[in-house]
This record gives sequence, structure tokens and C-alpha cells, in this order.
Amino acid sequence: MTLTTLLTIAIILAPVLITLGYIRTCHSRPFKHCGRCQGTGRVRSTFGLSMRECPPCQGTGRRLRTGRHVLNYARRIRQAHNAARLHDDRRR
Ligand SMILES: [Zn+2]
Repeated sequence: MTLTTLLTIAIILAPVLITLGYIRTCHSRPFKHCGRCQGTGRVRSTFGLSMRECPPCQGTGRRLRTGRHVLNYARRIRQAHNAARLHDDRRR
């Protein structure tokens, strides 16, 4: 095995491993701290005089990861597909 072959394998394998790691993170820890309120759930109002609920996280201080949004969307599509197929099977 030459050095070029090893480098090619590493270049191909690195993004795959990073993606699989991110998918695993989205499964095991679907929420992350909200970047806007730093996880507190409260932000200063427009003039900075009072605190109010953070709009992006709705006061929870946590937000769903983007990858988890994608996984949930894919799961909903699959469930709709399976429900439609089951419905078609019952009609026959
Ligand atoms: Zn927030």
C-alpha cells in the first residue's frame, strides 16, 4: 500500500466518520444549548431594561440540533409512506 493510497482512503473515510459521529450525537443528545440566550432561556429586551423569554428556544434554553430536525423529518416521511402503503394494502 502506497502513501497515496493511504491518503486517498483517509480523505474518503474522514467525512464519513465525521458524519456518522454527528448522526450518533443527534440520536444520543438531540438538544444543544441555545446560542442566543447561552442556555438561560432569558434575553434582554430591546432597550436592555428588562428580561424576557428567549424567542428561538421559547424559554427552555435548549434547541434541537439541525441534524435532529433532518432525522425527525425523514422519520415523518417514512411514517407517512408506511401509513399510505398500509392504507393501500387494506383497500385491496
Ligand atoms: Zn434561548
